[in-house]
Amino acid sequence: MKRDAAAQSRQLLSDFRTIMQSAEPPEVRLAEVVRLVARNMVAEVCSVYIRRADGALELFETEGLRREAVRITRMEAGVGLVGHVAETSLPVRLRDARSSPAFEPRPETGEDAYMSFMGVPILYADRVLGVLVVQNVSARDYQDEEQEALEMLALVFGQMIASGALVPPETAAESVAGNSRPTRLAGRSLADGFAKGHAVLHAPHITVRQTVADDPEEELVRLDNAIRDVHDQIDEMLAQPAIAAGESRTVMEAFRLFAHDPGWQRRMREAVDTGLTAEAAVKRTHDQTRARFRRIPDPYIRARLADMDDLANRLFNRLNADVNALEHDLPDDVVLVARDMGPAELLDFDETKLRAVILEQGSVGSHMSIVARALDIPVIGGCTGATDRINSGDLVIVDGDHEQVFVRPDQDVIDAFGETEAMQQEVQARRRALRDVEAVTRDGMKVELYCNAGLLLDLRHLDETAADGIGLYRTELHYMVRSRLPRMQEQAAYYKHVLDAAGDRPVIFRTLDVGSDKLLPYLKRDPEPNPAMGWRAVRISLDQEALFRMQLRALLSAAEGRELRVMFPMIADVAEFEAARAVLLREVEWAKARGRAGPAILKVGVMLEVPALVWRLPALLPRVDFVSIGSNDLMQFMYAADRGNPRVATRYDTLSPGFVSSLRRISEQCQQHHVEFSICGEMASQPLEAMVLVALGFRRLSMRPNAIGAVKEMILSLDTNALRQEMSRMGERNEGSLRPMFEAFAAQHGVKT
Ligand code: PEP
Ligand code: MG
Repeated sequence: MKRDAAAQSRQLLSDFRTIMQSAEPPEVRLAEVVRLVARNMVAEVCSVYIRRADGALELFETEGLRREAVRITRMEAGVGLVGHVAETSLPVRLRDARSSPAFEPRPETGEDAYMSFMGVPILYADRVLGVLVVQNVSARDYQDEEQEALEMLALVFGQMIASGALVPPETAAESVAGNSRPTRLAGRSLADGFAKGHAVLHAPHITVRQTVADDPEEELVRLDNAIRDVHDQIDEMLAQPAIAAGESRTVMEAFRLFAHDPGWQRRMREAVDTGLTAEAAVKRTHDQTRARFRRIPDPYIRARLADMDDLANRLFNRLNADVNALEHDLPDDVVLVARDMGPAELLDFDETKLRAVILEQGSVGSHMSIVARALDIPVIGGCTGATDRINSGDLVIVDGDHEQVFVRPDQDVIDAFGETEAMQQEVQARRRALRDVEAVTRDGMKVELYCNAGLLLDLRHLDETAADGIGLYRTELHYMVRSRLPRMQEQAAYYKHVLDAAGDRPVIFRTLDVGSDKLLPYLKRDPEPNPAMGWRAVRISLDQEALFRMQLRALLSAAEGRELRVMFPMIADVAEFEAARAVLLREVEWAKARGRAGPAILKVGVMLEVPALVWRLPALLPRVDFVSIGSNDLMQFMYAADRGNPRVATRYDTLSPGFVSSLRRISEQCQQHHVEFSICGEMASQPLEAMVLVALGFRRLSMRPNAIGAVKEMILSLDTNALRQEMSRMGERNEGSLRPMFEAFAAQHGVKT
């Protein structure tokens, strides 16, 4: 910000402080500051809207609009420009507000006389308390500096309103506490499950006690000291042996990079220069960065938002702002509520207390969701307004099955939950009791049940579930949670850890499957129009041979003297498999030449997930040791339906005649060639789908660990002969899906699906 603008801003804040120091009642002070803002912004109108308990925004004070509308005009949540600002927490700046579809003028205010509009949210502890608006009669292009000035004022307003210095204390309390009625919020299930607990708002309770600085020079010193302390703190954490291994370290390394970002530090210093205290400057810079990041579609950048939050919180702690630290006074049944969260925060959390997570953002493929599934913690994402509508301490029920959250539920909902919970516990206990029972169908078919894994955390499930092994180890997760490429020795130690945990049980390591929605921060790539069908998986490995060789070398070294199974993802034709295997065999030779023992047994396989390869099985099968079907991708490519796009992802069914007949073809051909085959896509985790797979001849299923109990229960109750006969009667049906027929079969034959 330019020097004169900073000086102007300091003058404005000083005038603000003079008004606040007067002995007038809050309403009179509010009217005065609103006039001050209008004058300062050279606007005909300046209005303050305050959020009431029902979420509506009430015109609380105005300079310029009709006085008779004050305390009368109300905008429902999300309605009109004011409602939009409150709902999105983002500023709106319009040269011609009347041409905006969101503009809904209220005639009693007389606002249709004003053409341009700028509104910013009034925030406090990350909660929207209201909206601050300026309007002008003429078409005016509000400038960036003007928006910044209004946002800074909104920050000061937030603190003053919350403290009751600008509005009556009852209004302040109501506005800060938000809604107190039962509410249902809809979202998307990112990690399945059902849970009840008490809400803990994850780090949003940042309360800046003083926003206007008494001595800006001193504030700058405070800020610099806090930044230095945080740098030291992060270095100390990285030096801890507990962090030195595992997934947390990589995330801490990313923080370190952010913490040293000169642009971020400069912006905070500039904010102090305008007359804010150090903590207000941190908050303001953080809010601005969040708003900017939120508009960036790149999923990797958006995922970094959670890291930024963590960093800002560390600074607040240093500055002694009122941060509601998570370590203190946690209930025993925590439901974490956050805008978004990084995986490290979850990993560092006391798992025994955590029941569920609710996020306003988040995606199924995000690292945090992956970690949550490994921990078996239900997560609902895309829950708009959650941090705003849920108060810390509220009772919350998370219903993953129906992708909804009940906030402050009525007794009926609590009772219904109690019944479902009791039933679920019964089911879980029944399935746990099957841990040591072999998965054999009623007609004597043994089915091996493997689990999918990708984090060290997943390994404990091997013993918990007594799985037969790991049918898919997604090695890319180890790469994704790091800020730089892991060194060869690091990778080898990591794979060795996995093999040690598995003991005699086989592990299928899938080589790097990045690209599409799985991005590596350190692997440069150009934006692609269609990344799911772009430069990904084995295509990257073959093009970046050094990267590929390093991974293969690490795998070979980790598996010295033991069995190693390597599988290549997204193979589209036989030549591609041969090329990948040739690189592997060269690495075997390289190790031999150096006198290394190498694996005792080496098995090489492919993932079958590109439809073209299904038509090349006769040529492929004699060359491979095993195949594993990636039904998630195979389905997406067979039906040309993006698995990450909620509009089409569930449009076609895996139990449709086309897909079922492809699976049958794969099973038959693998059997003919005596090649081991399995399936590791999500399909295998669903009991009904698994039932069909077993009838199609699949004897190895690899799935989410928490699905093993349910699938085993289904197998124990299945008569494959009966199902095969039923399937031969289904013939070539023309229905979109055979699911209803399979469901009817399961119901009639007592198959537990
Ligand atoms: C699949 O595509 O089915 C699969 C198991 O791999 P991923 O989900 O990791 O793409
Ligand atoms: Mg896949």
